[in-house]
Amino acid sequence: MIGKWFSRLIAVDLPQPKPDAPAVSLKSVRKVYTTGAGEFEALKGINLEVANGEFAAVVGKSGSGKSTLINMITGIDRPTTGELWVAGTPVHTLNENQIAVWRGRTVGVVFQFFQLLPTLTVLENVMLPMDFCNIYDYSERPERALTLLDLVGVKDQADKLPANLSGGQQQRVAIARSLANDPPLLVADEPTGNLDSRTAAAMIDLFSELALGGKTILMVTHDKDLAQRCHRIVTVTEGQIAASGDAERDAYD
Ligand code: ADP
Ligand code: MG
Repeated sequence: MIGKWFSRLIAVDLPQPKPDAPAVSLKSVRKVYTTGAGEFEALKGINLEVANGEFAAVVGKSGSGKSTLINMITGIDRPTTGELWVAGTPVHTLNENQIAVWRGRTVGVVFQFFQLLPTLTVLENVMLPMDFCNIYDYSERPERALTLLDLVGVKDQADKLPANLSGGQQQRVAIARSLANDPPLLVADEPTGNLDSRTAAAMIDLFSELALGGKTILMVTHDKDLAQRCHRIVTVTEGQIAASGDAERDAYD
């Protein structure tokens, strides 16, 4: 059953990415949530461009729309109106099957609560996206996963279950997992929100190195010092990107 589902996804056709296009481009993106209380416009016409290799912090008060914005870019959720282009691919035109395959190849996602599968070993967690996307040959996957775990400094934990690792180690594993299919774009929603400040700073070192290596990174954070270490700060205020003059005042909780 699962095999059948995988093979259907693998057969999905996707437009070719265009390496010269901006890494991310949002054009007039609106997101309206419909709730029992009526409609709520969480994103009010966002225009945003992120260049290849840029490491951008996304900051803003709680409830301003940061996660909604991030979920548009990963394809986890879809704009109500407007366009989302990632490396020249018009993501807003893709159907659900195409989005699943596109995300697996194109976007590495890192969450605040790591979201590793508790019954799989660290190595198996990192191999999982490779099994889903089938880009790397089956026989290459364990070695590739070990190389990624080495890159993030937790190779020696490969055979353990996630629960036996510290929070910082688990987030490193999650970053290794996000790199499994060598995606050009990494998106992280408060990845350091559950880590102490020293561990968080080490995580930013790691992201900075990945950006130097050519990855484009978008990271939501509440931490002013961490945001300052990014190439650029994007401030979200009530569903809009704040003018740069407002950034400092509205940036943090
Ligand atoms: P942030 O990540 O900046 O804290 P969110 O993007 O999570 O903000 O939320 C922005 C606004 O949209 C908030 O007012 C929130 O309550 C609302 N919101 C978020 N997700 C939903 C949803 N699924 N249904 C209805 N409202 C939502
Ligand atoms: Mg959020």
